[in-house]
Amino acid sequence: MNVTKAEIVISAVKPEQYPDGNLPEFALAGRSNVGKSSFINKMVNRKNLARTSSKPGKTQTLNFYLINESLYFVDVPGYGFARVSKKEREAWGKMMETYFTTREQLRAVALIVDLRHPPTKDDVMMYEFLKHYDIPTIIIATKADKVPKGKWQKHGKIVRETLKMADGDKLILFSAETGQGKEEAWAALERFL
Ligand code: GDP
Repeated sequence: MNVTKAEIVISAVKPEQYPDGNLPEFALAGRSNVGKSSFINKMVNRKNLARTSSKPGKTQTLNFYLINESLYFVDVPGYGFARVSKKEREAWGKMMETYFTTREQLRAVALIVDLRHPPTKDDVMMYEFLKHYDIPTIIIATKADKVPKGKWQKHGKIVRETLKMADGDKLILFSAETGQGKEEAWAALERFL
């Protein structure tokens, strides 16, 4: 995909605020600080469209980015902050569940994990949630530039095994630093259009 236009359309806290129309949507999920904003920015050729390093305690919103006026990236707030309150976690959970289980425009989710480390418990829960609702998922293992090339295969295997990835689900090694995996990620997403 040659992205020529990308703009934020709305930061939504409730379904009434989701954009109208029938454009397809790809949601981006991942634990806080995993590199989700950097992934989005790289995919759409922008330095600062998605804010990097968002802080906990901020209003948690679903950010809808319109790409080439033909599809949306939906940035889902990061999970896994140790210090958020139970109430905040519950609000996050409700918003996620509502979006993922009711949004007809949602075509697939890119779940971002860190190639350097085995997926966390929260990553596993997120993946299981997506599988439970039969939502097509691709796994993006980012920060590949931080792992020596000779270890990519081993680390990739650990990601697959820890998540118990379904055979059909794609694992893409990615780097927002080098752009590695960008074309592959787009190709994987575009198959769901
Ligand atoms: P988010 O909280 O998931 O949106 O994470 P960010 O995109 O803000 O990234 C968190 C930190 O990881 C920042 O310091 C980024 O510069 C860094 N980062 C993100 N992606 C990569 C990557 O592919 N390679 C390297 N080396 N650093 C990355």
